[in-house]
Amino acid sequence: MKRTWKFFAIALIAVMAAGISGCKHKHNYEVLEQRDATCVEDGFRRSKCKDCGEVLEETLYALGHDYDIHNACTRCEYKLEPTVTLQYIFAENENGYYAVLGSSKATEIVVAAYYLAKPVIGIRDEGFAVPEGEKVPVTQGAEIVSVVIPDGVKTIGERAFYGCAKLETLTLPRRSLLSIGDLAFRGCVALKTPNASRGVESIGSNAFYGCNALTSVPDMPALKTVGEYAFSACEALEHVYLGSGTGSVGNGAFAECPRLRSVALGSAEVIGRNTFLSCPRLEEVSVSSALKQIDSAAFTGCTALKAIRFGGSMADWAAVTKAADWFLTSLEPGEFVDYYIYCADGTLDHNGVETADAGR
Ligand SMILES: [Zn+2]
Ligand SMILES: [Zn+2]
Repeated sequence: MKRTWKFFAIALIAVMAAGISGCKHKHNYEVLEQRDATCVEDGFRRSKCKDCGEVLEETLYALGHDYDIHNACTRCEYKLEPTVTLQYIFAENENGYYAVLGSSKATEIVVAAYYLAKPVIGIRDEGFAVPEGEKVPVTQGAEIVSVVIPDGVKTIGERAFYGCAKLETLTLPRRSLLSIGDLAFRGCVALKTPNASRGVESIGSNAFYGCNALTSVPDMPALKTVGEYAFSACEALEHVYLGSGTGSVGNGAFAECPRLRSVALGSAEVIGRNTFLSCPRLEEVSVSSALKQIDSAAFTGCTALKAIRFGGSMADWAAVTKAADWFLTSLEPGEFVDYYIYCADGTLDHNGVETADAGR
């Protein structure tokens, strides 16, 4: 937990430092060291400003494979071996295919990047889902243990893997994936945290609801929108780090996560209804100065809360619109949750009153 916060603090300081010196001059960077990214591995670049000496370190994200029509990478030696029994449905208007399980009985799924010389652009809505309440399962999705979605795929449809209870290992495209649909992985109780997918901009509502083996939100630095209840009822979820590009987090996004300890909410403007409802181990939440509103029951039941780290000033915090019951708990009369609100210019106690150093 500590590491997450240190990382966040360092990131903030770096941003602040860049901002401050940026006022004085435009940096004149010179590259000191660079390792290019490959298809599968990140690279880095270290540069130094010739004028002020400031050092900039950047991650160059892995490129992902660039497949040809034979599913061979044009950049490296890698050849994808797609599961031959899968089916693909052509989308005329998009000139590409959507993958579905169809009648395949495969349990280790590798989706093709190209099918019949056209790109596979998505996983179809309900493509691998296990429908609820059907007497005869429409698909064998319940038996799937691993899925590889290749670079090139842009969308994972609604309910695409809904109820795939044995699905454990998910490999996402490194950069091409843009969106994960509503309910896409709902009820995938064995699903472990997938790899970084650096292009994902939106995660739909209930997308990872009830994914009990997920310990963190996958690394998705382009993420802008997290849907309602997207990570709700995830038993093992402990730490969540959303980058500064995340501006919208839906109601109940992290509700009822019994092990959740720390969350960085990026630049969310609203902490919506039920966002952290019944997260009894939640200790720290950080949110930027973009925050404008906290809704009903957002922190209800967060009895372990110690710190809200807010990017704005104490006056900004006071100006945040807060529902009357944003922090109701079921404590005995006279008892209270002893948390502090760490603002840029001082610290407030749980009554919103300025206080001397509270162990910051
Ligand atoms: Zn400079
Ligand atoms: Zn490659």
